[in-house]
Amino acid sequence: MKEDYYEILGLSKDASAAEIKKAYRKRAIKYHPDKNPDDPKAEEMFKKSAEAYEVLSNPDKKARYDQMGHAAFDGSGGFGGGGMNMDDIFSQFGDIFGGAFGGGGFSGFGGGFGGGQRRAKGSNLRIRVKLSLEEIAKGVEKKIKVKRKIQAPGTTYTTCSTCKGTGQVTRVTNTILGRMQTASPCNVCGGSGQMIDKKPQDADAQGLRMEEETVSIKIPPGVVEGMQLKVAGKGNEAPGNGIAGDLLVAIEEKPHADLQREGDNLHYDLYISFSEAALGASKEIQTVGGKVRIKIEAGVQSGKILRLRGKGIPSINGYGSGDLLVHVNVWTPKTLSKEQKEFFETMQNDDNFQPNPEKNDKSFFEKVKDMFS
Ligand SMILES: [Zn+2]
Repeated sequence: MKEDYYEILGLSKDASAAEIKKAYRKRAIKYHPDKNPDDPKAEEMFKKSAEAYEVLSNPDKKARYDQMGHAAFDGSGGFGGGGMNMDDIFSQFGDIFGGAFGGGGFSGFGGGFGGGQRRAKGSNLRIRVKLSLEEIAKGVEKKIKVKRKIQAPGTTYTTCSTCKGTGQVTRVTNTILGRMQTASPCNVCGGSGQMIDKKPQDADAQGLRMEEETVSIKIPPGVVEGMQLKVAGKGNEAPGNGIAGDLLVAIEEKPHADLQREGDNLHYDLYISFSEAALGASKEIQTVGGKVRIKIEAGVQSGKILRLRGKGIPSINGYGSGDLLVHVNVWTPKTLSKEQKEFFETMQNDDNFQPNPEKNDKSFFEKVKDMFS
């Protein structure tokens, strides 16, 4: 059973907003981790108080809590997943204690800068890559020229004298919590801990310069138009010991002359003549893996769909491949010679030429339904 938020803060249910804030301040000071190092009980109380305050200080959440208790937040995000993390808690403090704590975090507490030096990161670059269906089907390695900022050779760096290379400045201030140490990124070096000593003339203020580089991009089979791949570290470089940004590659699919893609399946329109439909035929079909021959049975109906299993596009997740669906279209000549006309006229009343669909000659719509079921 979860503890009552009012009880955690030592309040009665009719406490005013000012009383709630005051009660929370008291507890935040009492249980603050900087004042209670390695005391899990204090940390627990610190977190519980923050959670209670988070709800009771928000008129909407408070109203819901007053009405339904903890059930108001069950499952709906809220705090079901085990309370607030320290960053959330400290981000409340600007509100409670004034600007001094806003977002700064506390030394040694894993918040903002506690984990040590912040390394600058270069910006990401974006490019588009156009691929044919064949390339998408097999996967491909593309070599692409990219203009990116790199650290100009000859640039040298010195340790920032303001932060002594740590990338952050700490300040000790007297606050209502007692003497507090706050850390913020060094604004002289931008948090990198380094300053430019010497740089070549053609380098920019950060010691970087534009250079064209051929980047090799491995594209796995099955990518889809609009998908974005990331080549880590091939964006713009950052000065000093910073890390390079990423190269983001957006996939575009070139239209194919014969094949239409639908997810992992491909569609192909096959046209055959009257006589091929009547006599049967062997036809060449375009696939992403080259041409293949398929057999058309004598008596095939226009609109029949032949499924070539596994001749589609491989799934991007590696679960097999789609199919190639061959749509059979019987081509009707638009003009006839005198002899052909006579030939068809003699056939016109032949019983064998009268449409007589069997049960398994499904209509076009039934076939389409089958495809998607
Ligand atoms: Zn600095």
